[in-house]
Amino acid sequence: MLSYRHSFHAGNHADVLKHIVQSLILDALKQKDKAFVYHDTHSGVGRYDLQDERSEKTGEFLQGIARLWQRDDLPAELTSYLDAIRVLNDGETLRYYPGSPKVARAQIRAQDRMVLTELHPTDFPLLLQEFRGDRQVRIYKEDGFARLKASLPPKERRGLVLIDPPYELKHEYMDVVKAIGESVQRWATGTYAIWYPVVYRSNIDAMLEGLEDLGIRKILQIELGVEPDTEERGMTASGMIVINPPWKLESQMETLLPWLQSVIAPTRGHTTLRWVVPE
Ligand code: SAM
Repeated sequence: MLSYRHSFHAGNHADVLKHIVQSLILDALKQKDKAFVYHDTHSGVGRYDLQDERSEKTGEFLQGIARLWQRDDLPAELTSYLDAIRVLNDGETLRYYPGSPKVARAQIRAQDRMVLTELHPTDFPLLLQEFRGDRQVRIYKEDGFARLKASLPPKERRGLVLIDPPYELKHEYMDVVKAIGESVQRWATGTYAIWYPVVYRSNIDAMLEGLEDLGIRKILQIELGVEPDTEERGMTASGMIVINPPWKLESQMETLLPWLQSVIAPTRGHTTLRWVVPE
């Protein structure tokens, strides 16, 4: 089933959190000259037009990137993330929003490379078009987890894997756990960033328990909620689970998370920053 289209949600509060964390991890990888790989298992189309009918229909970006854009008190840690947005837009008008592949492309250097997978029959050609002729980017129309398994360990032995499935089906939470188990066996030192939506909290609890049971160390949870948990349908929060995070990420998020909450969800929001499994 491939009914999910990210264009309805691009630039929402969940994208903002995801792409900020992604860009901070890439910033950290760039501290060393040695090449790294950015591997994106569920890539989407790469670039979103916030004026298209899907974005306009939901208006989700209004409680996301639109709240940050043009503020004059933006924390310095957001520079790489915001630069990735600025290169897609002329001047001050916010029209285009980068998906995770474009956030990464704005940051990688000549020695780095990217691997992208996308299965959707409409989104895959758009992604391909976005990176046409780019020799640093390989794009596959394959299952994201199968391609990940086949690609590890990367020759660089350094890098970030972003795992961002649509979670339309309940089993996708446990698919992530299985994929992490297989991946760390092949490449234990890679950084893995898993995005998750809080729709039913029980799914997240089960996923975190599954990850703990894998016996791996250094698992950091970063969450931004816009509403309290509920049993009714609808995303109330989202988060990133980062395995082998760069050492500075925790302290960066300690200041960024409360700031983001104050900008995005000042009245009913919450934040979580904790080690699911410490070092
Ligand atoms: N990572 C993107 C970003 O941040 O801009 C958004 C990705 S979106 C949440 C999930 C994407 O996964 C959708 O574009 C969907 O078509 C794609 N997808 C669904 N099943 C897949 C699979 N088995 N393998 C690869 N991609 C898949």
